[in-house]
Amino acid sequence: MKGRTLLMIPGPIEFEPDVLQAMGAPTTSHVAADFVELFGRSLERLRQVFLCPDGQPFVVAGSGTLALELAAANLVEPGDRALVVNTGYFGDRFAVVLERFGAEVSQVRAPIGGRPTLDEVEAALRAAPYKLMTATHVDTSTGVLADVPGLAALARRYGVLFVVDGVCSVAGEELRMADWAVDVALTASQKAIAVPPGLALVMAGPRAMDAFHQRTHPVASYYADWGNWLPIMQAYEGRRPAYFATPPVNLIYALDVSLGQILAEGMEARFRRHRELGAACRRAIKALGLGQVPLSDEVAANTMTAPRYPAGVKGPEFLAKVRAAGVILASGLHPTIKDEYFRIGHMGPTNRGDLLATVGATETGLAACGHRFERGAGVAAVMAG
Ligand code: PMP
Repeated sequence: MKGRTLLMIPGPIEFEPDVLQAMGAPTTSHVAADFVELFGRSLERLRQVFLCPDGQPFVVAGSGTLALELAAANLVEPGDRALVVNTGYFGDRFAVVLERFGAEVSQVRAPIGGRPTLDEVEAALRAAPYKLMTATHVDTSTGVLADVPGLAALARRYGVLFVVDGVCSVAGEELRMADWAVDVALTASQKAIAVPPGLALVMAGPRAMDAFHQRTHPVASYYADWGNWLPIMQAYEGRRPAYFATPPVNLIYALDVSLGQILAEGMEARFRRHRELGAACRRAIKALGLGQVPLSDEVAANTMTAPRYPAGVKGPEFLAKVRAAGVILASGLHPTIKDEYFRIGHMGPTNRGDLLATVGATETGLAACGHRFERGAGVAAVMAG
């Protein structure tokens, strides 16, 4: 088809036709019985996707940044100490959001492309009492994967609430909220949840809800206050209509369809497929002679890849050539190394065919920019898995 492109950035992604069709369905009342049923079912499905049977889901119109605010606004009281395990740009953002709600923030950092060791994080937890700790499961600016189970175990040991920014991970990377004792995980619709942008999705476990209920200060945001949203979420799940602020009806139609597809695939199969896609993409860029931002494969995400440009290849020219070959990739995002790398998203419904097309277009772009490599080596590496 002329003009058709493949959107392979780390969100928004390519969406399934059934999901897009739901976006175009006639909008009903947000208190209509059929919508109440569908919203209630979506909340139940979210618990299964987050693997958090005792969690409280919140579905609120907004982007991933609102999801960060929902966690910070409701868990932080003025003067609370928060520890940010920082692996890139979105760790910086979480720190700013926490501070905005009155937290005293400390950070544990690593060189770009690395992640703080568990010993470093433990040393920070030992040095001062914290109310909560945050980590970015996949920092979309570096493609670094956090050790969520390891960090969660530390948080439990030190009695600290653990909040995971899973915007680039939930429904792609392995995440077991209840088994690993993650207190809050949050995401946005446009990534591995595979729904167009516009939904902030938060799952709060029992310890997080207890901390919320024990607050002594009012929540400093009206729209983000769980006190306003909790009765609404409980009502919809109980199949009763309720109103606080108008829900994005069509996005919730689409969410219900996508969650149905995700659960039909099954979480274990989905984690495995993302691991395979991640490994295949890393094999391909290596075969083309490219490095990557993550310092090792062990700390590299499976939902995206962050390849470094080879010598002589300039980002804008390369991305334009890849675009002309039918695939849209993303430029660098981390301010320090922005021009040194690009980003490929491979999450949600992405399959091996999409990855082959992407690696093929990447080869075309590299060749057009004068990089010397064995043509077809990247595509062969994807096939080799
Ligand atoms: N956290 C991470 C890890 C992200 O990748 C993003 C978006 N790229 C955000 C937070 C912010 O989400 P949004 O752009 O939807 O506000």
